[in-house]
Amino acid sequence: MRIGIDIDNVISNFDTVLFDEFLRHDKDLRNTGVVNPNNYMTKGMFDWTKAELDCFYRANIEKFAKNLDVIDGAKEVIEKLKQEGNIIFIITSRDNGDYNYPYEMTYEWLNKKGIIFDELILVHTPIEKVKVAQDKHIDIMIDDSITVCEGIIKVGIPAILMDTPYNRNINILRANSWREIYEYIKKL
Ligand SMILES: [Mg+2]
Repeated sequence: MRIGIDIDNVISNFDTVLFDEFLRHDKDLRNTGVVNPNNYMTKGMFDWTKAELDCFYRANIEKFAKNLDVIDGAKEVIEKLKQEGNIIFIITSRDNGDYNYPYEMTYEWLNKKGIIFDELILVHTPIEKVKVAQDKHIDIMIDDSITVCEGIIKVGIPAILMDTPYNRNINILRANSWREIYEYIKKL
């Protein structure tokens, strides 16, 4: 099978790191804490002005991305899937303008963390992943984005939604761990 896998919040603990860093910076600002727990960090979770948010995000996101950790089980399961003859496509929308050299940065991070893959593909927007999935004849996509999973399913490709606090209001095949992802893929 040809398996498409997103990086942030699927392989990497992006939101966990971002939340810790947001909290830390919030203390330096006004220490008002989380004001809208249901909102995403960059979408009003804190009382920051747009200027405060943009300034903090732009100055730090690359540094954060380089230092992310791997979610439990991701490395081992991807390795196992590869050994079982599957082809691993890592498809990320990190070419979104946040990073100076997103491909090199991501390639290095994957190597450093020992994540095995056949092809790394960067796109500009989440929805562009749908076209890539079609072009690469992906058999299943794993992503934490509702937009991506819905788009993928719409073109007839199965998707597994990696659970995050921000994607719970939708009924898509959902995995809470890499162990579950492995079990779903084995059933296909
Ligand atoms: Mg993601």
